[in-house]
Amino acid sequence: MSQLRLYNTLTRKKEDFAPLDPKNVRMYVCGPTVYDFAHIGNARPVIVFDVLFRLLRHLYGEQHVTYVRNITDVDDKINARAQKLAKERGIPVLDAIREITAQTAKQYEDDVTALGCLKPTREPRATENIPQMIAMIKKLIAAKHAYPAQGHVLFDVSSKPDYGKLSRRALDEMIAGARVEVAPYKKNPMDFVLWKPSTPELPGWDSPWGRGRPGWHLECSAMAEEYLGQTFDIHGGGIDLLFPHHENEIAQSECANPRSQFARVWLHNGFLQMEGEKMSKSLGNFVTINDLLHQPLGLGAAIRTAMLMTHYRQPMDWTSERLSEAYGLVARWDYRAKSVPVSDRVPDAMLDALKDDLNTPNALTVLHDLWHKSEDSDNARQDLANSLALLGIKTKQFRTLEQTLSALGVSKEELYEKINLRNAARKAKNFKESDRIRDELESKGIILKDNSDGTTDWEVKR
Ligand code: AMP
Ligand code: ZN
Repeated sequence: MSQLRLYNTLTRKKEDFAPLDPKNVRMYVCGPTVYDFAHIGNARPVIVFDVLFRLLRHLYGEQHVTYVRNITDVDDKINARAQKLAKERGIPVLDAIREITAQTAKQYEDDVTALGCLKPTREPRATENIPQMIAMIKKLIAAKHAYPAQGHVLFDVSSKPDYGKLSRRALDEMIAGARVEVAPYKKNPMDFVLWKPSTPELPGWDSPWGRGRPGWHLECSAMAEEYLGQTFDIHGGGIDLLFPHHENEIAQSECANPRSQFARVWLHNGFLQMEGEKMSKSLGNFVTINDLLHQPLGLGAAIRTAMLMTHYRQPMDWTSERLSEAYGLVARWDYRAKSVPVSDRVPDAMLDALKDDLNTPNALTVLHDLWHKSEDSDNARQDLANSLALLGIKTKQFRTLEQTLSALGVSKEELYEKINLRNAARKAKNFKESDRIRDELESKGIILKDNSDGTTDWEVKR
């Protein structure tokens, strides 16, 4: 049996994973800022770390893994949207904030559940952990790692000699390269905010530095400590968070608790782009998880499978071909595995793939082999069902052909009528009409296949 190995961004090496306490393996992943629908790029870390969560539960036991993913419910982007909504509706800003964050958090939960993701063990909200954040700031000020200035509290980066160890940047390079906010109250341009003042209509909490709210980096440090302790095993998030967010989390936590390393292993997923381009609202290629779930081939299990086709550390291009390929795979796995009761006996080949730094492309190859063998082997069929369950690919949510057709906007009767009309046209050698019908169906996502005996089969386009 192979050993679980994970690529640690901190050491830039693939390492054997050994938890501090095998009876409580602890993982923290930066969660969503709840102000709008999550996009398909946001789904990547959720799926990747869900696969890791499932693997850890398999290896160490369900009761022995604690997975914390926070919800950022205090943030400038939330405030900006809430102020707009409050003005439109003539309601207090705080009510608008409550409404937006509650609705968005619920939407997020529904979306990621449809992608087959388990609920993390804890989902703490920033606004419910403010006293812990204030306590951490007090500790940092007492240890001279932070200083109050004009209602703000700033972290003093020059007080931590190894600041930059995760992103491997030296302080002087950062200052030269970064678009840092220059502010008169900062001693060093790289100093970052732990606490900032709040206006009366925006959320704020009383503190020794006046009424205000926490900085984003601080939220994660305080919540990770609250729910996982000063030291824990794994910290995850997208590669865009490496700097400054994760660097600053380390700085805060290790200066507040100088005898403890913060997270021991750092994992970062690569970025997802859309059909070869960076996703952005202005380019009009911005796709939310919810949009995709409502597309004909946007089955949760298919979206999840499409995501797992690329290794988590690689950049990934999201294309419609990829999704339809994944849909086809899920359809055939489903056919073989859906009536098999699942157990947790997973074949070694599957575990070996996942234990090798979550090599999900290899895991999908294993599924493919199992699918081939499952034609005439009950054992392979069982292995296939168990492996799908471990990966969180819920084939049972697969649609029937009728449901798929209706998702494509075609009824079965209509489809057969078109096929009959086309066959009549072919018999009459009216190929223009028969091609027209074929193309019309293809544009709806249905491919016709003519058999040598004159009959015609159809399938959903992949
Ligand atoms: P945000 O709400 O922007 O803080 O993002 C939430 C999570 O999604 C973070 O872990 C980000 O790193 C990740 N993320 C955002 N955009 C993408 C993307 N295009 N590809 C992969 N991960 C992303
Ligand atoms: Zn974070």
